[in-house]
Amino acid sequence: MVKAIRRYSVRPVLPETLRPLHELALNLRWSWHAETRELLRSVDPEGWEAAGGDPVRMLSTVSAGRLSELAGDRGFLRRLTVIAGDLRDYRTEPRWYQQAGADLPRAVAYFSPEFGITAALPQYSGGLGILAGDHLKAASDLGVPLIGVGLLYRHGYFRQSLSADGWQQEQYPVLDPHELPLELLTEPGGAAPVRVMLALPGGRTLHAQVWQARVGRVPLLLLDSGLAENGPAERDITDRLYGGGTEHRLLQELLLGIGGVRALRAYCRISGHPEPEVFHMNEGHAGFLAVERIRELAEAGTGFDAALRLVRAGTVFTTHTPVPAGIDRFPLDLVARHLGEGAEDAGPDRERLLALGREDERTTVAGSGTGSAPGTPPQFNMALLGLRTAQRANGVSRLHGAVSREMFNGLWPGFDPAEVPIGHVTNGVHAATWTADEMSAHDPAHASDTELWEVRRTLRERLVHEVRARLRASWRQRGAGQAELGWIDEVFDPGVLTLGFARRVPSYKRLTLMLKDPERLRRLLLHPERPVQIVVAGKAHPADEGGKRLIQELVRFADDPLLRRRIVFLPDYGMGMARTLYAGCDVWLNNPLRPLEACGTSGMKAALNGCLNLSVRDGWWDEACDPDFGWEIPTADGPAAADPDRRDAVEAAGLYALLEEQIVPRFYDRGRGGDPPARWLAMVRATLTRLVPMILADRMLRDYVLEFYRPATAAHRALAAPGAADAFAGYVSRVRNGWPRVFVDHVDSGDEPAVLGGVIPVSVRVRLGELEPADVEVQAVTGRVDAEDTLADPAVVTLKPDGGHPDLDGRWTYAGELPLDRTGPFGFTVRVLPAHPRLATGPELALLTLPAPAD
Ligand SMILES: *Cc1c(COP(=O)(O)O)cnc(C)c1O
Repeated sequence: MVKAIRRYSVRPVLPETLRPLHELALNLRWSWHAETRELLRSVDPEGWEAAGGDPVRMLSTVSAGRLSELAGDRGFLRRLTVIAGDLRDYRTEPRWYQQAGADLPRAVAYFSPEFGITAALPQYSGGLGILAGDHLKAASDLGVPLIGVGLLYRHGYFRQSLSADGWQQEQYPVLDPHELPLELLTEPGGAAPVRVMLALPGGRTLHAQVWQARVGRVPLLLLDSGLAENGPAERDITDRLYGGGTEHRLLQELLLGIGGVRALRAYCRISGHPEPEVFHMNEGHAGFLAVERIRELAEAGTGFDAALRLVRAGTVFTTHTPVPAGIDRFPLDLVARHLGEGAEDAGPDRERLLALGREDERTTVAGSGTGSAPGTPPQFNMALLGLRTAQRANGVSRLHGAVSREMFNGLWPGFDPAEVPIGHVTNGVHAATWTADEMSAHDPAHASDTELWEVRRTLRERLVHEVRARLRASWRQRGAGQAELGWIDEVFDPGVLTLGFARRVPSYKRLTLMLKDPERLRRLLLHPERPVQIVVAGKAHPADEGGKRLIQELVRFADDPLLRRRIVFLPDYGMGMARTLYAGCDVWLNNPLRPLEACGTSGMKAALNGCLNLSVRDGWWDEACDPDFGWEIPTADGPAAADPDRRDAVEAAGLYALLEEQIVPRFYDRGRGGDPPARWLAMVRATLTRLVPMILADRMLRDYVLEFYRPATAAHRALAAPGAADAFAGYVSRVRNGWPRVFVDHVDSGDEPAVLGGVIPVSVRVRLGELEPADVEVQAVTGRVDAEDTLADPAVVTLKPDGGHPDLDGRWTYAGELPLDRTGPFGFTVRVLPAHPRLATGPELALLTLPAPAD
């Protein structure tokens, strides 16, 4: 075999009239715009298949003969002109955002460790990346001036196959960026590629180039360290997603955060794109962007405290994990070295920067061992960095918001979890990407049962073909000869109720819960009249032996010659497969350990296609579930909840019972004439018309724009005014220093009997030390008193300063009236909080004074 010593990828020179093809292929809008995709495919249908549906690769193999044929094909050229014009309009016309008000940011930077936009740009491992991809696409559709920032991994995530005995095998194909839908970011004039540099300990320099993907109207910048001028270690920093050890991971995150800001500045300088006013961290991995922005401001002469206030005002942090073990943490001294002399030297600010990520007992994350225990080396925690450098933070579903407030309550001691300033935006999915064309072509509100059923059957049929093709390839790969595989033609049946379960394989997702009672599952699969078929897919992290064992257990079950026609495991779950899977299944199964699924989005993508959800009430399903849209697998409670085995048994039994008693009978209920199942289709219709609007990425993006980006912009603009950040920083340090001398001295609530409709007059004396009355707010918190003497359904009444001066003891009086609007046990307490117009919430500074216990 002759091996090439160098690789070149030859980009075709397109005839003049076909030039617009280049732009259509490079702009990833084709991945969600069916007409563009059809046009591109028609250039060379065979080449399209061979290239895995990637138009850039297809164009690099299309023959010159075919190109000159197309260059003279007037019908083709007409379509090309129309579609190229449509893309131009799409990219430039005013959209929702352009009408949504002047108080919105001029630009938003969105940093994420992974982006899943299309299978043709495999830079994702799972939900986090695909969510980021959907975020960019929805931003593009709505005209939000967003710039994505990430890394370009030369091997992406791994490709999965199976050994003969069902053990996960990992391959890391090399991606050549020149063959991907990317362009190198170059200095004006086009010649010199932009270089981003980071100083590393030991006098080394990390160089990165910047690739640009076009996602409709949204640019996505991907930093790539695979450069000859780097040493071998630096070259490998962007080798793969979530590989390598602690230091490797830290270097990736430094490149993403610090290098990402530098790449962004270069991009804005070169393209004239407005500078971002809001920076959005999609998970803690991107946290170092705040470090770089503080450094930029320091360089321009802003002091650390003012810089921190300014950066916080314009930063949004989204947390994605309810599992403390899922948070990225690094030894503090390792981070210190990278921000120290000879490296990215933060100078005198280094200790302050390190403190932003530092764990201590107080910031111990609830329910975990993630707080640095006494005696263990201190840790730098990326979620803490996110929370301390972003004035606004959110979880990704209603339930996850609540779980996050509990989890991070330690950062706001004394406050109720409900008051912890972490909100939520429930994730959404990009309809045009994830809805099958056949389904988009029908208006579910008006389609007849017969039509809808026909569409569902078409999608199921396509899935059956896909399952067989992938299963055959997998068996060949596992060593089977073609002749042994005749049975694969009988795998799956387009008329059989089809369940799907596909996701990454961390243990909390419980890939094998369905195997808990194998006999019961077998009966469901092999039922003579009303069988069920199940398609399963998912990758385990390469270092996760436990996950690989689960996959093997499932594969072995599915290998059983008696069952293999009804249950399959398909290797190499990815976006390409996912689209067919979501669309073709009738029921999408999700059975995580509640509440460990932050949101989950695969069930949403299935719902877009009229697939019904069967799920534990976790993540998004906790807020969206409704008997009209699917089924809720009951979560074990009581003693069973505490014992993992019993919990699995109880929840699996619930799952089987739902299948046996409700789902299977409803799907096969065909009336006398073999009609479509009316009650089933009523659920499909309800899912499509009522559930779908709640789970769209459009809705998610509007939520982010209106509830997060807009207030962040106002906050940032206010602080960017001359002197404003210094003044606010001065306030913050004044209240922090003065707070130990703030006391509630006396509370008086009169002696009148409490009657419904009346009020309780309250008067409070507080000592403020060096602080002024305007620096604080004094509140009464009222509510029902429950058995433990705590306040349920608390409501806040702000007390007003009474008189313009303190009493002779230096105490200020605050007073107000508490309405008695309900009967029953009623109580109140009072408290003092900092108050300043630039604070987003009262708890923001984590300062709180309550009356001394005796009062
Ligand atoms: C949507 C998606 C995921 C995430 O699904 P979850 O429900 O969040 O587990 C993972 N991988 C692929 C390929 C997806 O399309």
